[in-house]
Amino acid sequence: MKGESFNVITVDRRALIDNFRYLQGLAGEIPLLAMVKADGYGHGMIFSARAFAEAGCSRFGVAELCEGVALRSAGIDGLILVTTCFGSEDASLFYEFDLTPVIFSRAQAELLEAEGAVRGRRLGVHLKVNTGMGRLGLQPQEMAAFVDGLADFPHLALTGVMSHLAEADIPGSRSTADALTVFREAVPLKERCGAILHIASSGALFNHPEAWYDMIRVGIALYGSHPSSTPHSGLTPAMRFATRVIQVTEYPAGTAISYGRTFITTRPTTIAVIPVGYEDGLHRSLSNRGVVLVGGRRVPIRGRICMNMCMLDVTGMEVAVGDEAVLLGCQGEECLSADEVAEMLGTISYEVLCIYGHVNRHAGETG
Ligand SMILES: *Cc1c(COP(=O)(O)O)cnc(C)c1O
Repeated sequence: MKGESFNVITVDRRALIDNFRYLQGLAGEIPLLAMVKADGYGHGMIFSARAFAEAGCSRFGVAELCEGVALRSAGIDGLILVTTCFGSEDASLFYEFDLTPVIFSRAQAELLEAEGAVRGRRLGVHLKVNTGMGRLGLQPQEMAAFVDGLADFPHLALTGVMSHLAEADIPGSRSTADALTVFREAVPLKERCGAILHIASSGALFNHPEAWYDMIRVGIALYGSHPSSTPHSGLTPAMRFATRVIQVTEYPAGTAISYGRTFITTRPTTIAVIPVGYEDGLHRSLSNRGVVLVGGRRVPIRGRICMNMCMLDVTGMEVAVGDEAVLLGCQGEECLSADEVAEMLGTISYEVLCIYGHVNRHAGETG
């Protein structure tokens, strides 16, 4: 197409499919729920969900109700679990779009029950319990009374009980063992209610088989990054971020590069400009620190990263205007992983993928 941005995120559909199949292979009989919140961790929510569905996935998780509505409206079948929140005016949407809410208060149950009574329909709900994450959920000691109280809500069926681990990414973590004990004790419900139990995310899939229970909610690993930031041979990163060189200039020693003159060349230096800056997700804190791939090699970012440009040191290389530069993904033999970019930024792969995905269009989805 004409007039497209030089900055293109591509998402490899094949990698998403392969990752799902690989992870489902690890989990064996235990079904995976694909977390596609945050626009599929930046990979495109609907695009990703369709790829996972093609790989055999029939359970999906989102944070907000509006995401669930979008997913169902795009034709995604199966369970869609809304894990975070919904507005008091929106209870009807769970019925209309066949979505499953995660609840953690009696007020939420009342809203959903009232809607079910009006429609003469029953809705499956999952209950969330806090087992040590200190985030969402009923407290463990509230669980028994809450579950007994569900008898007041004939239009609600308890189909799941869930929690979330704070240290699933740490093998052998003590807090995970403690959380699982709390979960077991808070939820002696399986026989009573027929609800499925789920607490595992990607970290627990790899590190804590004892936490798998009846379903595993996988996120980051589906997109090709390991939750513990260690490369993993079974996973293929799906996102690639590439652009093109727009100018190549030879400068003598003693030339200042970019705002604030924070980089001064110490030798004759070849500088390539690319049209990627902090507006494209290339965080300004990577000024004079980050690396980019050009010609299959790692080259350093020189000077401050601007709003929509930055400068690369390609001294000694044959680089021409129009050559490809890669900010995430592979070029030739060399790869820049989300974990490496995250390490430079002092964050985690999750944030890099979300930010690159959100600030760039998914114009170039492949596979
Ligand atoms: C995001 C999320 C997950 C997935 O976590 P990963 O570490 O990406 O696998 C699982 N459960 C809940 C409730 C989440 O919000």
